[in-house]
Amino acid sequence: MKRRDWIRTMAGMGLLLAAGQTSQRAWASAQAENGKVKTMTLGEMKMTWIQDNAADRKMQNSLFQGADKAIIEQLSPDGGAAATVSCFLLETGGKRVLFDTANGRADSLLLPGLASIGVKPEDIDYIYITHFHGDHIGGMMRDGKPVFTQAEVYVAKAEYDGWMAMPAERKGQVVSTMEAYSSRLHQFSFGDELPGGVVAMEAIGHTPGHTVYRAGQFLVIGDLIHGAAIQLKHPEVCASFDMDQPKAVAARKKYLKYAQDEGLTMAGMHLPAPAFLKLTMEN
Ligand SMILES: [Zn+2]
Repeated sequence: MKRRDWIRTMAGMGLLLAAGQTSQRAWASAQAENGKVKTMTLGEMKMTWIQDNAADRKMQNSLFQGADKAIIEQLSPDGGAAATVSCFLLETGGKRVLFDTANGRADSLLLPGLASIGVKPEDIDYIYITHFHGDHIGGMMRDGKPVFTQAEVYVAKAEYDGWMAMPAERKGQVVSTMEAYSSRLHQFSFGDELPGGVVAMEAIGHTPGHTVYRAGQFLVIGDLIHGAAIQLKHPEVCASFDMDQPKAVAARKKYLKYAQDEGLTMAGMHLPAPAFLKLTMEN
């Protein structure tokens, strides 16, 4: 199967998008129509996308390596690929699971987004972390205190161990955040089934224990994709944030194919708004 044969379907919207410029325009208009919160239900899984970034977010073309500059500029003609900083709330079986918590900046939209659907921080039962970068765990703390006072926190043992082995100056936020949640912290192995019937899957490369999560017909892909306009067509291209680039490329290719083969709707922390995406094969 050739990547260029893929077309992209904005899940739940029935929009077939061509690559490059056209898809960026369609994504931009989708954002305008859908605001910054969008819920999709597939089977028993009700998943809500919540955009955290208040200002528009682009991933600059200079971040992307591994392809001709001309190709990148053709796919991303505005100097950067449309993106978001996003979280996802899963409601299933009477429980609420939050996937990542974004930056926790002063203008963060995560808590207002949760409030808009009637969810308070103390209503979150579980937090499943894709990886330890600040734009994923920053929202766990405010003024030095845990934001989610009832949540049990889950992270891959490989991610935890990988970060703890890093020099002190790189892991300060990780150490302080995990200490604050230490009485409620759980480390899992890849392949484990977590509460809510969510399966944690190994997607190492972006970070030492980067995890994607399968929740029914959803696949929460964390940071497999930073610049959708570029990397869906060229998954061999890495954003400079990918710590182990060969492994990140392998994971990106593996899970794009898996999502397509299984007909899954991807939920991505940096996909353009609304950050759900279903791939289909062009006939
Ligand atoms: Zn990220």
